[in-house]
Amino acid sequence: MNDDILRVLYSKEDIDAITARLADQIKADYAGKNPLVICILKGAIMFMTDLVRAVDDYMEIDFMDVSSYGNATESSGEVKILKDLDTSVSGRDLLIVEDIVDTGRTLFYLKKLFNTRNARSIKICALMDKPEGRVVDVHADYVGTTVPNEFVVGYGLDYAEKYRNLPYIGVLKPAVYQEE
Ligand code: 5GP
Ligand code: MG
Ligand code: MG
Repeated sequence: MNDDILRVLYSKEDIDAITARLADQIKADYAGKNPLVICILKGAIMFMTDLVRAVDDYMEIDFMDVSSYGNATESSGEVKILKDLDTSVSGRDLLIVEDIVDTGRTLFYLKKLFNTRNARSIKICALMDKPEGRVVDVHADYVGTTVPNEFVVGYGLDYAEKYRNLPYIGVLKPAVYQEE
């Protein structure tokens, strides 16, 4: 295990089981449709790639990069588009795939944006939900697991761009933040 990790919350096996459950629901809900999967960079990359393969049905994929965090562990409250979609969302059924919902600001902003762009439907699939962090009223339609109000890394999620490649999700040792 990585030396900076205090404890593992979800092993790769745990994540795979969560993903399989969500994929079954999504497959059933989108049967006969051709949803546009919107992967929110960079945290959701691992989850999205595993999820769409578990769904194994018609889906298109696009990417969007938004920032609200910078390198800190607390939200700045601002949402900024760093990379927009290549695909038009007008008339499309959208499935936003996100790593974790914390304050809810990112998804609140994106839902509003895609509504003004005339999406036909918008649903959210989040691997993790941190309900204690919520500042604006937004909920994910598919939630993998609820996590306590701790900063987690791994399986796509970073701290200062590190730890995204860990195959598990864990909590960082406090010393890692305190060094900065
Ligand atoms: P929100 O807009 O809901 O506050 O923030 C969502 C984004 O903040 C997530 O997509 C993620 O990038 C980041 N974030 C929130 N909580 C955590 C966390 O515990 N760990 C990491 N690495 N990122 C987080
Ligand atoms: Mg994110
Ligand atoms: Mg981040």
